[in-house]
Amino acid sequence: MNDKPALSRRHLLTLGGVASTAAVVAPWLTPSAAHAADAPRVPRRTLGKTGQKIPILLLGGGAGFDPKFDPKIARALQHGVDYIDAARVYAGGTCETHAANTLERLQVLDKTWITSKCEAHDGPGFEREVDVSLASLRRKSIDLYFLHGVEDPKILDNKELLASVDKLKKAGKIKYFGFSCHDGTVAELLTKAAGISTVDAIMFRYNFRTYGNKELNNAIDTAHKANIGLIAMKTQGAEASFEDAWKKFEKTGKWTKHQAVLKAVWSDARISAAVSHMDSLEKLQQNIAAAVDDEKLGQLDWQAIERYARATRGDACDGCGHICSAAVGNATGGSVNIATTLRCVMYHDVYGDAEKARRVFSQLPAAARDLNMDFSAANHACPHGVDVVRHMDRARQILT
Ligand code: SF4
Repeated sequence: MNDKPALSRRHLLTLGGVASTAAVVAPWLTPSAAHAADAPRVPRRTLGKTGQKIPILLLGGGAGFDPKFDPKIARALQHGVDYIDAARVYAGGTCETHAANTLERLQVLDKTWITSKCEAHDGPGFEREVDVSLASLRRKSIDLYFLHGVEDPKILDNKELLASVDKLKKAGKIKYFGFSCHDGTVAELLTKAAGISTVDAIMFRYNFRTYGNKELNNAIDTAHKANIGLIAMKTQGAEASFEDAWKKFEKTGKWTKHQAVLKAVWSDARISAAVSHMDSLEKLQQNIAAAVDDEKLGQLDWQAIERYARATRGDACDGCGHICSAAVGNATGGSVNIATTLRCVMYHDVYGDAEKARRVFSQLPAAARDLNMDFSAANHACPHGVDVVRHMDRARQILT
């Protein structure tokens, strides 16, 4: 068996070494392949109060993993990306089990950092879901466990929930606790969490579109000062609809749009890491290339990112649904949820994840799934010029 790392640094940077899946699986079927010592390593940063060093690039499981052996996991491990971001519901509920299958085969199931998350946000439900995750992952302990997709900051007032978290930590079932969030309440949640000692880490939407947001920046400062580990997600700032908008990004140097916006996130020292849902070896390879290269973005790169942000602003929803949903509230009895619906369109059209798009949409109340109305008031209300009418037309086609 050939245990040599599949990629040289030169290959990573030029992307000339992209091989077919079939070609790269074979050399990794030995456990030692997960520890290729001379492969370029992704740098690590400390994750807040956990004190643990994690890679700055995290392997997201949103797109799911191969049931038997996923070469993306093996390649990620070779480059020090030994952190998998899973969730109970990712990939139709298969993410945890499939990740464990590959890790077990590589004999690193207990040596790889696994974060998982659940959508039960009450104490007993949270405890039950942790037990299900432990069984799916075939582990006695999970490194970090999140409340998945928190929107309402009041959840953090739930003493029963926090008591359950403490109990799970004491029992060793989870080592650290936190939550993920991506809607309009991110800044509020970060600020509130700073005063709750039980919260160790937060994964939140953070990308080049939000750098100038003063409220968010103040909230990040507050959480960072409280030593909460901060993980960026949705770093690509994807547009609501498939518009080939990424083509508007002008490559000024060696970085692609995907690499440039990741490097932009890593340039913020308050952020420990960025999670990326990489559904192909090529994407993984490009992200690793950006992570292992310590060259910083130049002025031209930053200007290109800013121009791209401006050019695509009207297609990117920030999740501040209280603004646009209120504008059409009278017509809907307050039930419409534009932000979540547009996020579902993005899952479908940009991430290519129709299953997730339909699942998240189906979890909305029935009244919120009735999209047969005039959304033009939302167009006028949106401060970012998002064409809600057009995107809701698209939502009607693909989600209802
Ligand atoms: S459409 Fe506009 S107002 Fe509504 S959530 Fe998106 S960015 Fe905010």
